[in-house]
Amino acid sequence: MSLSEFQIISHYFAATGLGFPRDGVRLGIGDDAAIVEFDSDVPVSMSMDILIEGVHFPNQTDGFNTATRALAVNLSDLAAMAAEPLCFTLGLSLPAIDEAWVEGFAAGLSQLAKRYNCPLVGGDLTRSPENTPITIAIQVHGSHQKNAPVRRSGAKPGDGVFVTGALGDGALALASLGLSSHLGVGSSVGADELPDDDRRYFEEAYFQPQPRLDFALQAATLMSACIDISDGLAGDLGHILHASGVGADINLDEIPYSLAALMNTEADIRRKAALYGGDDYELCFTATADGADRLREIADRECLALHQIGVITNSLELRLLNHEGLEVTMEGQAYQHFSGEAK
Ligand code: ADP
Ligand code: MG
Repeated sequence: MSLSEFQIISHYFAATGLGFPRDGVRLGIGDDAAIVEFDSDVPVSMSMDILIEGVHFPNQTDGFNTATRALAVNLSDLAAMAAEPLCFTLGLSLPAIDEAWVEGFAAGLSQLAKRYNCPLVGGDLTRSPENTPITIAIQVHGSHQKNAPVRRSGAKPGDGVFVTGALGDGALALASLGLSSHLGVGSSVGADELPDDDRRYFEEAYFQPQPRLDFALQAATLMSACIDISDGLAGDLGHILHASGVGADINLDEIPYSLAALMNTEADIRRKAALYGGDDYELCFTATADGADRLREIADRECLALHQIGVITNSLELRLLNHEGLEVTMEGQAYQHFSGEAK
C-alpha cells in the first residue's frame, strides 16, 4: 500500500465522522483488526453487500451518492432483521485515487454512520487495475440487545401483508436517469419531460434510500416476518412465502406509489416497477390483525406511509388480484443476477 493510501485511511476513514467511539466497539481503525464486544446472550446480525460501479450504481456516480447508497442498502438489511446498527467495515477497491471522490464518499458514509450511530471500525483499501470499475463491499453488524431478530420464516395464514413507504421509485429512478432498466420502462418516464422536482425526487430515492430502521426497531415485536425490498415486491415477498411455507393474496390497487410516480408514469409501468423493479429498500412484512393499529401509530410517529396490501393464505401461491378480487396475470420477474437478462 502506498503512503497516500495510508493517508487516505487516516484522513478520511479514521476521521471523527466515521471512526467515532460507540458502546460495544472497543477498538476501531488502526490495528490489525477491530475489537467488538459481544454479549454472549445477545445475537448479532451481520450482512454484507457488494456494489460494483456500472452494475449496482451508474458509472461516474459522485462519491457522496455512491456512499449513501452503499451504506443505506446494508443498513436496510439490518432494518429487515430489526437489528440495531453497531458498526461496519468497508472494503474499497479503486482503479485510481481521485481525492475529491474519496472526500465525497467519506462525507456520504459519515452522514449515515452518524445518523444511525454506526461507526466505521475497519476495512481494506486496494488499488485495482486501471479502467476497472470501483468496487465497494460493506459489512454491517447489528445488535439484538433490544429486539429479537425478525426472520423471513414467521408468516402465518391470516396475517396481513404490509409495506412501508412507496414502491417502484427505485426502478423509475433508473429510467428517469436515462439508464437502461431491465423493465424496459426507460422511454415511459420521459426523462426529458420530467419536472426538475420529480427528477430530483427520483435521484434521491435511488441514491439515498432511507433504511427503515427507526420504524423496524419499534415495530419488531409486532412483525411475524420481514424482508427489505431490493429485487421487487413479487420476488421479495416470494422469499417470505417460501421461507414461511405459505401463500399470499395481494390487492394490486393497494400498492402505494409516490406522487412523482403517479404524476409521471402510466399505471401499468409503475405497477411493474413496484412488482419487479427493485431498488426500493422499503420493508415488506407480515403481522396479525391485532397489531395493525399499533403499527399505524408507529408509522405515523415516524411520518412514514404504511399500507396493508394483502393477506397471507395457506395456498402456497402468490396471487395478484384486481379491485374486484379477480386474479391478474402479470408478465415480468424479479431481477436475478445469475439468471442472465431478466425479462
Ligand atoms: P493490514 O495490512 O494489517 O491488513 P491495513 O494496512 O490494510 O492493515 O489497514 C490498516 C488499518 O486501516 C486497519 O485497522 C484497517 O482496518 C484500516 N482500514 C484499511 N482500509 C480501510 C477502509 N477502507 N476503511 C476503514 N478502515 C480501513
Ligand atoms: Mg489490509
